[in-house]
Amino acid sequence: MRPPPSRAEVVVVGGGVMGAAIAYHLALRGVRDVLLLERGALCSGPTRHSTAIVRLHYTQPLLVRMALHGQRTYRAFEQVVGSPSGYTRTGMLFGVHHAERAMLEGNVAVGRAEGVETYLLDAAQVAELEPRIVAEDLAFCFEPEAGHCDPYLVTAGFAAAARRAGAGVYEGVLVEAVEDGAVRTSTGRIEASAVVVAAGAWSGALLEPLGYTLPLRAAPAEVGRYRLPPGFGSPPPAVADFSSAQLYFRPAEPGVLEVGSLDPRHADAPVDPDRPPEGAGDATLDGYRRALARRLRGTEGGHWRGAWCGVYDVTPDWEPAIGAVPGTDGVYVAAGFSGHGFKLAPAVGVAIAELVCDGAAQAFDLELLSPERFARGALVGARYGYSVLG
Ligand SMILES: Cc1cc2nc3c(=O)[nH]c(=O)nc-3n(C[C@H](O)[C@H](O)[C@H](O)COP(=O)(O)OP(=O)(O)OC[C@H]3O[C@@H](n4cnc5c(N)ncnc54)[C@H](O)[C@@H]3O)c2cc1C
Repeated sequence: MRPPPSRAEVVVVGGGVMGAAIAYHLALRGVRDVLLLERGALCSGPTRHSTAIVRLHYTQPLLVRMALHGQRTYRAFEQVVGSPSGYTRTGMLFGVHHAERAMLEGNVAVGRAEGVETYLLDAAQVAELEPRIVAEDLAFCFEPEAGHCDPYLVTAGFAAAARRAGAGVYEGVLVEAVEDGAVRTSTGRIEASAVVVAAGAWSGALLEPLGYTLPLRAAPAEVGRYRLPPGFGSPPPAVADFSSAQLYFRPAEPGVLEVGSLDPRHADAPVDPDRPPEGAGDATLDGYRRALARRLRGTEGGHWRGAWCGVYDVTPDWEPAIGAVPGTDGVYVAAGFSGHGFKLAPAVGVAIAELVCDGAAQAFDLELLSPERFARGALVGARYGYSVLG
């Protein structure tokens, strides 16, 4: 492949789902010479490990709106972007201790006010929906339209559509430094009117020399693929179980669940994002298996068919930084998605394209997620301790 040119209108750093969505929306807006630079292959970073669940259960109306935009985009991806997203509707149940029912009700009210179909269920109603769920000990709500995508299809689809709209997509190009008005790369210097850093857990290191600190921890996120025993039957809905189990699972291909943790403490033992652990630990998988058996009847006798450890780029409030980088002229950031960014990527693409092209984001008011809120101590609040539901 030929190296990228030495001049671009906008350089986007990072070929995960965020960078690909941003490059697509910039190209769609008619920005000439958009370059998407990825040091490895497209979707070779944490996006590839994503369980890619698309649900709308959030505390903040802004996040509900962004997630709703994401869900609509992924459902219509083929018509809108030109290739499949793999969107599979499963519905999703959220369960919390009865003592925390107010949090659940609060998020349901926020969702409903934004037009989301979501409602509370008592144990009998959960049993009607999915009799294999153990429901008595928790309060539940349900989101019937929730589902998941194939994160590779989405990233590759955005990148291909960006290319068709005129963007240059370059793999194997490492951005060594970001400057006001340029990037230095492994293939040479590229001048640019604007630079967007969407480099996930690596974004902080690229921005620090510009005088901006993005406080990120690279948290290990272990996921196991559980082969359900013969005779289990039809797939269950996706479930977020906020009992002491702090577990989530969602159906994958027939007979298989992807199972992961909702316990925020995994961010307390950060890892080197370039060297995350291989696979998931035996103790983790044992814990997942036991918690799964407690929540979903009929799963005993299944087995693990592989596991992996992804990385979350976690900020102090578990919310991303999206916007202009303070103290720079033409550098933007979209990073720190803290384990829940997949569903937000289409909205982030729209918002960053507006910021770069129009000087302000119109479709979504990004004030809440301003990159300078960490310095101001203006962190985003969430009802749950686990802020992927912020
Ligand atoms: C296990 C797991 C489960 C998840 N589940 C969900 C879920 O169910 N729902 C949901 O909404 N979200 C989920 N997420 C979160 C979501 O997947 C992420 O927020 C999203 O994929 C982040 O995308 P990104 O493009 O910002 O970052 P990344 O995927 O990290 O992409 C950044 C890219 O930048 C590249 N890069 C880094 N430095 C440079 C450089 N100097 N030069 C060039 N390129 C560079 C990297 O190689 C990488 O490809 C999950 C994440 C994980 C890990």
